[in-house]
Amino acid sequence: MKNIQDYTREELAKWLENKGSRAFRAGQIFKWIYLKQANSFDEMTDLGKELRCLLSENFYLGRLVLEEKQVSSDTTEKFLFRLNDGNHIESVLIPEKDHFTLCVSTQVGCAMDCKFCLTAKGGIIRNLTVAEIISQVRDARFYLLQKNIEPLKLSNIVFMGMGEPLANYDNLIKSLRIIMDTDYGMKFAARRVTVSTSGLVPKIAQLGLDTDVNLAISLNATDDKTRSQLMPINNKYPISDLLEACRKFTMKPRNKITFEYILIQGINDSKEDALKLVTLLSPIRAKVNLIPFNEHEASPFKRPAPKQILAFLQILLDRDMTAMTRKSKGADISAACGQLKAKMINKKDQ
Ligand code: SAH
Repeated sequence: MKNIQDYTREELAKWLENKGSRAFRAGQIFKWIYLKQANSFDEMTDLGKELRCLLSENFYLGRLVLEEKQVSSDTTEKFLFRLNDGNHIESVLIPEKDHFTLCVSTQVGCAMDCKFCLTAKGGIIRNLTVAEIISQVRDARFYLLQKNIEPLKLSNIVFMGMGEPLANYDNLIKSLRIIMDTDYGMKFAARRVTVSTSGLVPKIAQLGLDTDVNLAISLNATDDKTRSQLMPINNKYPISDLLEACRKFTMKPRNKITFEYILIQGINDSKEDALKLVTLLSPIRAKVNLIPFNEHEASPFKRPAPKQILAFLQILLDRDMTAMTRKSKGADISAACGQLKAKMINKKDQ
């Protein structure tokens, strides 16, 4: 039996046609699943009984198991989901002024081995399926619905959770098709969806051709030596190759690529680094998101003092760079990548 959420609308239409049904039914089914939050095929009352039977004989329609939830004092909520095979992933629901943003995972674990990241510690376990990726979004909207909040208020998605999205490329693209299906699917506008990557250069160009989502790059250093130490992927695709791919990335005229830059005390937070960052990014339509390092027990790295962070930011702003420091939301619930999962596993080990 297959999870129906693994299918794009086009794939489902094809499947239906093969079974002697009509392609347009896929749109109806999609509306039930993604807009009306159906829990079973029986609820899909505008489909004939025969079709509902056919669907339930061939597919299941499930939700992820919400194993643990943490609410931060700033109302950021972190979900720990258990998958069918017992693995765990996290999603973070971030309230903004008039909408919500969901931070979504794409893999169980991660193969990139970034030295500052907690998810990296366990290595890669597996890619998430399409159903597992989009269930995070559907289930978060269902959660809002249960709290009497309009589900479509969840209007922004960032692929900044566990895993490297571009290393699970095919499932990422299929998930994006469903997420950005504006007629029958989840109705996210492309400008409200951001895919963040550690820098898988060949896939960056491909993403620009296949979709019109926003691109974010985890840059984190301004020279190859430091970046390779922090992010081993840099040995394969050094900064010059990465920035060249960014320069060529196809996007709408007024769009900008976000460069995420974790500030780590004594590693990449100097005045020289800030100046170098300005020079590096000057040929690119870029904005910089400074992320003060989120300290955790598995890393010796430290967050710079607030004064140092502001001084770094000021250098960028003084040179007309669009830049901001990320408000550290959910700090008291360890909302940084992988931290809830790690805590939970520690608990089990004891
Ligand atoms: N693999 C993708 C997406 C997941 S990481 C990528 O690398 O972009 C999402 C963001 O969280 C990245 O910008 C990463 O640099 C940042 N991050 C990871 N661990 C962190 C920590 N301990 N403190 C602050 N930011 C962290």
